[in-house]
Amino acid sequence: MTLPDRAALGTLHGKEAAIAPPLSTLGITLVVAPIDTDAFGTFTAETPRQGTMEQAARAKARAAIAATGLRHGIASEGAFGPHPYLPFTPLGQEVLLWHDAETGQDVIERTRDTRPNYDHHEAATPEEAQPFLTRINFPETAVIVAPSATCPPFAKGIRDHETLAATLSRATGKSFLQTDMRAHMNPRRMSVIASLATRLAQRLSVPCPQCHAPGWGLLATDPGLPCGECDTPTRLPAFDIHGCTACGTTDRRPRPGTADPAHCPTCNP
Ligand SMILES: [Zn+2]
Ligand SMILES: [Zn+2]
Repeated sequence: MTLPDRAALGTLHGKEAAIAPPLSTLGITLVVAPIDTDAFGTFTAETPRQGTMEQAARAKARAAIAATGLRHGIASEGAFGPHPYLPFTPLGQEVLLWHDAETGQDVIERTRDTRPNYDHHEAATPEEAQPFLTRINFPETAVIVAPSATCPPFAKGIRDHETLAATLSRATGKSFLQTDMRAHMNPRRMSVIASLATRLAQRLSVPCPQCHAPGWGLLATDPGLPCGECDTPTRLPAFDIHGCTACGTTDRRPRPGTADPAHCPTCNP
């Protein structure tokens, strides 16, 4: 297996602080490509993302490759919104993608954050905004102020009380305040990207047993772990599917053990 000594990182938002240290343990130095990542989609109302998170991350990685002339590129993409099942719970999703322009191989890590620093509030004055500001850990976490939830913002990346007060005074009545989700403005998000980068580095360190490309690891699971009481297949994973995204080799390994009858459709319908 050969890993490059340099890879391009497409970011305007300081993500190298989170991604460079784990990759340096593999001998890879990141070259930051200052591409306009906001053109691929923003968290605010200006530019909606086109396509899936993975497509957006791949487009950014390829833009970083084009800007640097390097063979390998990295980019991340995040999405934030309400949790699909749990009421009043936000959900953050993050994708970190490594792309090899010569082979077309992607090596991808994904994670979900059920405690993202993702919140919003309507306020006319700094006093009205204070409970929200305390909750989101302002000014370490920056704030975006907009006339309403669907309008382009007055200002992003606000990190001091003076600017916040001046921005709120531009509106007649209440403004829409929200956490700035860009990585360099949101320490919680930066820490999630850092843990994802550690996992990506671990994955890249394992070569495919067949073609020796980097990035062998868990790709999916198959459900069906049998109930410990009655042997009925449950929805819990019964097999781990490890594989290589370069040559397509996979290895389906059974998980040991049985499922708690609480997960069984027969014992606990
Ligand atoms: Zn392979
Ligand atoms: Zn059962």
